[in-house]
Amino acid sequence: MTKSSIAVGADWGYAPAPESADHFRLRDHYGLFIGGKFVPAASGKRFKTINPANEKAIAEVADGGEKDVDKAVKAARTAYDKVWRKLSGRERGKYLYRIARIIQERARELAVVESMDGGKPIRESRDVDIPLAAAHFFYHAGWADKLAYAFPGKAVHPVGVAGQIIPWNFPLLMVAWKVAPALACGNTVVLKPAETTPLTALLFAEICQEAGLPEGVFNLVTGAGATGAALVNHPGLNKVAFTGSTEVGKAIQKSLAGRGTKLTLELGGKAAHIIFEDATIDQAVEGIINGIYFNQGHVCCAGSRLLVQESVEEEVVAKLKARMETLIVGDPLDKNTDIGAINSKAQCDRIRDYLKIGEEEGAELFQTRCSVPEKGYWIRPSFFTKVAQSHRIVQEEIFGPVLAIQTFRTLNEALEKANNTPYGLSGGVWTDKGAKIFKVTRGIRAGVIWANTFNKFDPTSPFGGYKESGYGREGGRHGLRPYVELS
Ligand code: NDP
Repeated sequence: MTKSSIAVGADWGYAPAPESADHFRLRDHYGLFIGGKFVPAASGKRFKTINPANEKAIAEVADGGEKDVDKAVKAARTAYDKVWRKLSGRERGKYLYRIARIIQERARELAVVESMDGGKPIRESRDVDIPLAAAHFFYHAGWADKLAYAFPGKAVHPVGVAGQIIPWNFPLLMVAWKVAPALACGNTVVLKPAETTPLTALLFAEICQEAGLPEGVFNLVTGAGATGAALVNHPGLNKVAFTGSTEVGKAIQKSLAGRGTKLTLELGGKAAHIIFEDATIDQAVEGIINGIYFNQGHVCCAGSRLLVQESVEEEVVAKLKARMETLIVGDPLDKNTDIGAINSKAQCDRIRDYLKIGEEEGAELFQTRCSVPEKGYWIRPSFFTKVAQSHRIVQEEIFGPVLAIQTFRTLNEALEKANNTPYGLSGGVWTDKGAKIFKVTRGIRAGVIWANTFNKFDPTSPFGGYKESGYGREGGRHGLRPYVELS
């Protein structure tokens, strides 16, 4: 009898498991979506949207300008005055339920397009982004006829026409976060998606057509930053909602000052992720991975500053390195991929600059040894140790798979370091002591704090920040408030 033996050292990698992209057809070019129809931009201009994993153009998209924004705001106003504000909450809810169901029906297509256009792994777009987008519509459909219960004792009125600007990190999910509460509360919308990820917003416009949503209730103007600025500056808006960088958020706040237009801002973050010595370290390491490497670290609430209790630093860092070496970086459409492509060349260059800055500041860089494809934009999972509180890599939002690791000795030191940031969006704590969880959650000034988990989202739970992370909440009952007037 021969003894079978395992060839230790052989390649134990997974075989490729690519999701196919042949079950749908994208158009060669897309227009703006205004008054229920796809129309070309007034200038006739278009730009290409690029797949960041292979640098190939996927489709051309209309480049909207001031005239188009004006047309879209007027269409939204007409729809608001003539149709949407007059519908009962129950009727509005039916449209939202229909949209939610169509998102579910087209989930596979939406997930693939999201991964092609933005670079995120298909596992994330399939299991997180698209199901959550549908859940947001279901949740807000439920609120549409129950607003009187959300604000008891008050008469609830819509605000009017909302201008909404979203970033490129969760393209369809951000559409849902913005559009679902606005429509549920009786407002109409003009939305500007990010220049690098317009496709699922355009498919969403098709979904609105399919759902029979009255013309002009949802309008979409694609374009770059100038298109967003034209929208913000349009005098016909009653409300602006923005998610993106703190820098642009501040500029928007300035241009709206004194205009009486309502504003909510969901801006950057630099979350502290605190690991106490009594935490279950193996689980905490999974939490750290999920906290910073989910979606290539393009997450406003990413756990980008790790604070580890000194006594377990060595163990945590060793286990983290070992776990990071197993992460697969590569084709976003492969179901085995953990970390996809960086969203754009500009963002990739920005992250590389920060990697250089960190080393110049004297921090020690660790990067995994995994292979990355030749074409496309890639950054290996990275972290810095030997960092100081004053380092730019500790203070500034990198928005990539780059973690800064610091240590602490006492709970108070952890809280002081956690709060020593201009941001206040999120935070995390790992410990087996409930009392410590309460002390940390009360002690950190941030809108969301996860305990013994990280990066978990739910439409019923309000999300938003303090300080330079913005103001206003999205999700839950709190998220309805920016879209209603009460009397
Ligand atoms: P931006 O803040 O520029 O982009 C967010 C959205 O705002 C996009 O739709 C953008 O359009 C639009 N926009 C840009 N300029 C203006 C303007 N003047 N008026 C109105 N709208 C405007 O983020 P970037 O894409 O430039 O990313 C830069 C950095 O911002 C990242 O490295 C990251 O640190 C941070 N960021 C943070 C996000 C968060 O959620 N916290 C999200 C995105 C970025 P367009 O994309 O077409 O230029």
